[in-house]
Amino acid sequence: MEDKQITVTSPLLPDLDEFNDLLKRIWDKKWITNNGSFHKELEAALCEYLKVPYISLFTNGTLPLMCALQALRITGEVITTPYSFVATTHSLWWNGIKPVFVDIDPETCNLDPDKIEAAITPKTTAIMPVHVYGKPCDTGRIQAIADTYGLKVIYDAAHAFGVEVNGKSILNAGDMSTLSFHATKVYNTIEGGALVYHDEKTKKRIDYLKNFGFADEVTIVAPGINGKMDEVRSAYGLLNLKQVDAAIEGRKQVAVKYREGLRNIKGIRVMEDMLGIRHNYSYFPIFIDTEEYGMTRDELYFRMKEWNILGRRYFYPLITEFSTYRGLESANPVHLPVAVKMADSVICLPMYYGLTENDIDKILNCIQSGQ
Ligand SMILES: *Cc1c(COP(=O)(O)O)cnc(C)c1O
Repeated sequence: MEDKQITVTSPLLPDLDEFNDLLKRIWDKKWITNNGSFHKELEAALCEYLKVPYISLFTNGTLPLMCALQALRITGEVITTPYSFVATTHSLWWNGIKPVFVDIDPETCNLDPDKIEAAITPKTTAIMPVHVYGKPCDTGRIQAIADTYGLKVIYDAAHAFGVEVNGKSILNAGDMSTLSFHATKVYNTIEGGALVYHDEKTKKRIDYLKNFGFADEVTIVAPGINGKMDEVRSAYGLLNLKQVDAAIEGRKQVAVKYREGLRNIKGIRVMEDMLGIRHNYSYFPIFIDTEEYGMTRDELYFRMKEWNILGRRYFYPLITEFSTYRGLESANPVHLPVAVKMADSVICLPMYYGLTENDIDKILNCIQSGQ
């Protein structure tokens, strides 16, 4: 009965002819990976665009998390959030580190700084917060706690590409920040990611780590891994970088229309823009108050499906619900009331550059019809 599906996201794709021109250059050169010229060019271009001093490209957004933990020699326990994509916590598990879950702030859905100190033990070595939906964490307060207790801070900034606070990149906070360039993100290289940090010495160490630990032909400085990005995706990334500002602006227009349309629907909360922040509109979460709205989150979610509108319940279930983690004491939902509430009430609406007015109207009508 219904027309085409509206998906939650749609990838930003470079112009195919331009991409072909760059592919031709790669074919001519026959240099397809291992720090080739497009790889170098993309690292330089990203440093400039993101306003960060150093960056290392990776083949996805999970390996930089794992390598950041290795590079900083993190062990024991790390304080993190249950309200994220599983890769955040998996990176700890792969390094033999115990995640300690702390509840989130209901306004931003980020790690609640007020709850961090109570979770610190003699085994704690770091804090791993996530800028969920690209909303900046309270980096000042988190750094103050880290400084007091001598902890490292690694931000999972997978959602925060291009986000700035008072004109400065959010990626400069903490010891390191990681990015994902997965197809579903604001900026993509199909699969890809990066690690951001503050000094030249770290650049060396990270670039060794992502290349098996090779410092030169005969020297291995660490048990590294293979995390290298290839020339084809670096070229693709260079082209996508040229249109990412337009994409963020397009997303902003979608957010403005959603907010207008949802303002008068009782029981639906949206996130507003924050003062002094350059947002990237990576996701558009709505939170449903069943009493006021008259339907549960899942009822609305499945009604949207019937209308061929594919929202996503990011982040439900919480990471602490998965079998790997649920046995941990800190994973007990009684310690995480806010995260449980947000996970049970959220739907991320379709959000991408090029979502049409017709589609937005249809989505708003669907939500209106549930009231
Ligand atoms: C997408 C994402 C990742 C992982 O990125 P991949 O590129 O898919 O490996 C990590 N953390 C968060 C919060 C993400 O959303």
